[in-house]
Amino acid sequence: MTELVVISGKGGTGKTTVVGSFAALAEREVVADCDVDAANLHILLGGEVVEKAPYHGSETAVINQEKCIACGACARVCRFDAIRVEGDLYTVDPLSCEGCGACAHVCPVGAISMEERQSGWIYVSRTPYGTLVHGELLPGEENSGKLVTQVKMRARGIARKEGAKLLLIDGSPGIGCSVIASLSGAHAALIVAEPSLSALHDLKRVAGVARHFRSRLFLVLNKADLSPSIAERIRKEAGDDGIVYLGEIPYDEDVTAAQVLGKPVVVHSRGRAAAALRAIWERLKGELGPWG
Ligand code: SF4
Ligand code: SF4
Repeated sequence: MTELVVISGKGGTGKTTVVGSFAALAEREVVADCDVDAANLHILLGGEVVEKAPYHGSETAVINQEKCIACGACARVCRFDAIRVEGDLYTVDPLSCEGCGACAHVCPVGAISMEERQSGWIYVSRTPYGTLVHGELLPGEENSGKLVTQVKMRARGIARKEGAKLLLIDGSPGIGCSVIASLSGAHAALIVAEPSLSALHDLKRVAGVARHFRSRLFLVLNKADLSPSIAERIRKEAGDDGIVYLGEIPYDEDVTAAQVLGKPVVVHSRGRAAAALRAIWERLKGELGPWG
């Protein structure tokens, strides 16, 4: 099974447009939305949720009042002001607790235990284009790299069970821990960029992270016709860096129209952007060889 992750230096470059169209064009694939801070593939691909499982991404300290001797060591060590003190009663404010475990470490009588806390949900949806796994963080929760890993693991398990040839991953933008989690284990990474000077910088940073995982690197330029000279610079630098350029998607109002209708562009339109996406898809398949 081939694992392909689509990434970008920043959000809003058209990454989900590309993944949505690839999902519609591919056969025997499973899709994972690892852009967990802004998961929206389920809106584009439609379908229905068939599984919803709690995601435990963090821990909270809990004080056993029967053991506590009110020594105050936990309140002194907590850097997040999460220990509340009323007379001799010590309790943990779960909203402030960061789950660092320092209090449990210093408690002289072992009165503090660390308990798993639900931080979000992992969903499996059946869409007209195949199975989609996606995650959601509860408000205020962080640690999305761990959620990305769990979404990927669930998607890999389903892909194996379904005998899928391709695991298509909508990766997180940027170079933070969630994009690193998206890239880990991927055979190939496709970078989607728009022609801007900042994209030149972003491309190098993202490529550096992807190269660390020894993934094959590809580039697609979205709206390349809006700035041909910068697009040319990006193409040249990508070539110098050994990144295979697959083509460009021209600016096309059909892309926005498809988004409004909640459909992949290649399903909604036969226009310029849809044609470009089909051509890019064929080139990518040619580069990666037969899926599997
Ligand atoms: S786990 Fe860390 S943040 Fe939470 S109460 Fe203990 S010391 Fe404070
Ligand atoms: S460190 Fe342990 S014994 Fe001391 S106040 Fe905190 S919970 Fe109670």
